[in-house]
Amino acid sequence: MTDALPQTQLAVKWYPPRCDVRLESVPVPRVQHPDDAIVKIELAGLCGSDLHAYRGLEDISQPHVCGHEFVGHVVALGESFSPTSSPSRPPLYGTLRVGDKVISPFTTSCGDCRFCRLGFTARCVSSLLFGSPALPGAQAQYVRVPDAGGTLLPVEPSSPLNAILDKNLLLLADILPTGLFVAMQALAHPKLAPVLTGHPWPASESEFLKMEASASAAPLTHEDRTLTVGLVGLGPVGLCAAIALIDRLASLSVPLRIVAVDTNPIRRTKAQTIISTFSQSTLEELHVVDPDEAQVIVRKWGGGGCHAVLEVGHSISHRWVCPNMSHNAQVVGTPPALTLSHGLLAPSGVLSSCGVHQAPALPFTGREMYNTNMTLEFGRCNVRSLSDAAAGLLVRQQDALSEVVERIVPLTNAVEAYERFESGEWGKVVFNVWA
Ligand SMILES: [Zn+2]
Ligand SMILES: [Zn+2]
Repeated sequence: MTDALPQTQLAVKWYPPRCDVRLESVPVPRVQHPDDAIVKIELAGLCGSDLHAYRGLEDISQPHVCGHEFVGHVVALGESFSPTSSPSRPPLYGTLRVGDKVISPFTTSCGDCRFCRLGFTARCVSSLLFGSPALPGAQAQYVRVPDAGGTLLPVEPSSPLNAILDKNLLLLADILPTGLFVAMQALAHPKLAPVLTGHPWPASESEFLKMEASASAAPLTHEDRTLTVGLVGLGPVGLCAAIALIDRLASLSVPLRIVAVDTNPIRRTKAQTIISTFSQSTLEELHVVDPDEAQVIVRKWGGGGCHAVLEVGHSISHRWVCPNMSHNAQVVGTPPALTLSHGLLAPSGVLSSCGVHQAPALPFTGREMYNTNMTLEFGRCNVRSLSDAAAGLLVRQQDALSEVVERIVPLTNAVEAYERFESGEWGKVVFNVWA
């Protein structure tokens, strides 16, 4: 089941301690386990999460091939892939073939363990992150995918995804499902149900938990039914979160106000342009501003803050990044972003965060959380479980989402691309690994 593969390939490798990536010749991976697939990569993404290791913010010292976003074709499969594969295993083991086009989530997920079966693929017991010391990454020409039958997303011949450019399909590897995840974690929370349904808590709870609400308060007003959302961080994931949010609310007639925050004016301009295209939605107000202005706007709205704040990264002080860098930079999930998000949140609000958190402590206390009935949604996106929902979102909103990837550059330009992406000068970058 293996096409003849070359012995070596080009790949981007990270070296400690920080800010050192090199283009090198490395061995082409081979099938090591019956559940493996080898994928020949067409395009690979450069992601904000790659910057954690790049900046030396992760506790790793082992050089490794970078990258966790890729689209390509299967060139080799392990023995588990067979039409006679057990029906108790993920169905892809029975259907995937050499030559099939695939997109991969940024982490592997076996599809066999309890967490995978329940849909919590981010916590798969054998999950590995591409582009880490544990699993060589995808800023390369070939990549080995462990647990491939549970991990890979095939692009079926009949799928509407076939009409979408590869640079946009690449969004399904990470940033689009992650943007959808951070929006959904807030929208699906019972605390937002009174605004979305018009029924006060607890009558607005899910069907299973629904209870009679005490008719002790005055009726809800138009203002009460206006959803206010803070969006902290307008990098590529922030743009995807905004599009996912508006898309999910399109079927409801709930008025929406968004305050979208970033210190980077280039990102603010791009976000303003993309989000403004949704003029037919229920988007009542959109403010794309810096952090100080955001506080003023939220105070003006009243209600003590936003019903939900989506924390998807925010400009941070240089003290958090490489000492030799003097500029502000964007890192998802860093303390200043959480501090700002917390400051924009109303009592009984939901703070939904998708960042990779490095700091040892949260910038608010348990007492503060109790005193505001605050909900904190945290963690890695269950990316494989959200793949189909994200694919539907991509098909529906492909015009807006096609603006997210800013440039495609040859893999041989990786060193420059890391520098310019890290500085905030370039937005989302995709590598053509064969150019
Ligand atoms: Zn990513
Ligand atoms: Zn699993």
